[in-house]
Amino acid sequence: MKSPSEEDWTRLDKAVAGRVLRPGENGFGAVSMPFNRRFADTVPAGVVSVASVVDVQRAVVWARENGVGVAVRGGGHSYAGFSVGPGLVIDLGSLNTVSANASTGLVTAAGGASMSDVYAAIQPGEMAFALGNGASVGIGGLTLGGGVGATSRVHGITADALMATTLVTADGEVLRCSADENPDLFWACRGGGGGNFGVNVSFTFQAQPVSDCATYVLLWHIEDAEKVFSAVQETMRTAPDAFAARVGVSTTGPDSVVSCIGQHMGSAAALKEILDPILAVAEPFRTLINDRTYWQAKDDLLHETAAGAFACRTSVLTEPLPGDGIDAMLSLVRRWPGGGNPDGGGAALFSWGGAVNRVPAGDTAFPHRDAKFLLSMDTSWASNDSPAVVDANIGWLGELADTLAPYGNERSYLNFTDPDLKSWRTAYYGDNYARLAEIKRRIDPDGFFTFEQGIGS
Ligand SMILES: Cc1cc2nc3c(=O)[nH]c(=O)nc-3n(C[C@H](O)[C@H](O)[C@H](O)COP(=O)(O)OP(=O)(O)OC[C@H]3O[C@@H](n4cnc5c(N)ncnc54)[C@H](O)[C@@H]3O)c2cc1C
Repeated sequence: MKSPSEEDWTRLDKAVAGRVLRPGENGFGAVSMPFNRRFADTVPAGVVSVASVVDVQRAVVWARENGVGVAVRGGGHSYAGFSVGPGLVIDLGSLNTVSANASTGLVTAAGGASMSDVYAAIQPGEMAFALGNGASVGIGGLTLGGGVGATSRVHGITADALMATTLVTADGEVLRCSADENPDLFWACRGGGGGNFGVNVSFTFQAQPVSDCATYVLLWHIEDAEKVFSAVQETMRTAPDAFAARVGVSTTGPDSVVSCIGQHMGSAAALKEILDPILAVAEPFRTLINDRTYWQAKDDLLHETAAGAFACRTSVLTEPLPGDGIDAMLSLVRRWPGGGNPDGGGAALFSWGGAVNRVPAGDTAFPHRDAKFLLSMDTSWASNDSPAVVDANIGWLGELADTLAPYGNERSYLNFTDPDLKSWRTAYYGDNYARLAEIKRRIDPDGFFTFEQGIGS
């Protein structure tokens, strides 16, 4: 990578309607800091906060001419810090308009729109598709990596609702992709990962009408963990697609809690019936089960995690985690090494299945169509924790992932990006990797969009 001169940076600044910020300038931190502070040491040479698609084209052309690597930043939440690099960050944060047509159900979001932007646009039309539950998560990263939400067992993944996307390619061209136009690239943009093929400047989705539903939060002490994990998984074997669950155990050292939270696209009374076998194995110390409008339910589940340093590993499960796997998981959670981040560490199972399983694995780049659960394991630490604490946490997480690996199918979820994963090509993409690599060679033959764990790297 070359180092552009001050004149080169000034040229970029003049070429775009948005703004260019360099290290030390006011506001630089807000557009350059990765959400995961584990990667806070990566400082880009400059950030261009684009104001239009033309700005994106000019930024790409400028970076090519100056031999500068680029990283594309949507909501900035990549767990691996992939939306920040040492070269030029193309920050899409100001491209956040969303339009929604209540009569067709078509929703078009600009490439930098957040979950909150999308929800605000679709709510008046009483329509939705599967979205993430982090308010400031970007639609770009979510969709391009698949996107699984509390309604995915009914609506499919976010990428399943995608009808078209427009991207700026490595040579600065604007390409529209849909089932009819550039269908290969359209296939790749449904689970093939952000930052690989270009800068996606817009996404068009087909939304579905929504109805009232119900949400729940159940909390137990860690002593009940094994019974609860077993009962939730057993319930999922026969539960309707309308029901979704996330069952987790988390610890901060002195305090540990088991939780089961989720949504049912039906009444609270029907939800209570589904939950009864789980409630029967152990009495929660907190039980909330409520009828909600779709939008209240969204608010119940939407959350904004405070940015901190963390690591996450995942394993796609095609079968429930058996008793010995649950025991092994709990025994490791009890041995969490500690750290100063109040998020602590833990493990959780997200119910997938339902509509996620009804699309063949090769129809989109997202391969996990036989998944019943996503096992997510995480840990966190504070910026001022010592290197020994950080090492202990990363080592503990590795041990937890290795211990539970035999229960999975050697697959991981791209959107819970794991920079420590060596086998990421098959883990994220399964048999779809070869086609993705071939599309990459055609659309970006010089590997202009390159990063660790990028397709073709
Ligand atoms: C609080 C929180 C809640 C979450 N909840 C969910 C959830 O419910 N379901 C789920 O599936 N995931 C969830 N995630 C994970 C989330 O989907 C990923 O972290 C996602 O990659 C974030 O996208 P982003 O645009 O915010 O991040 P970024 O870091 O900006 O982008 C992630 C990757 O996509 C690329 N990219 C982003 N936008 C574009 C674009 N427009 N064009 C080309 N490339 C682009 C970036 O270069 C980077 O490689 C959550 C994450 C957090 C932090």
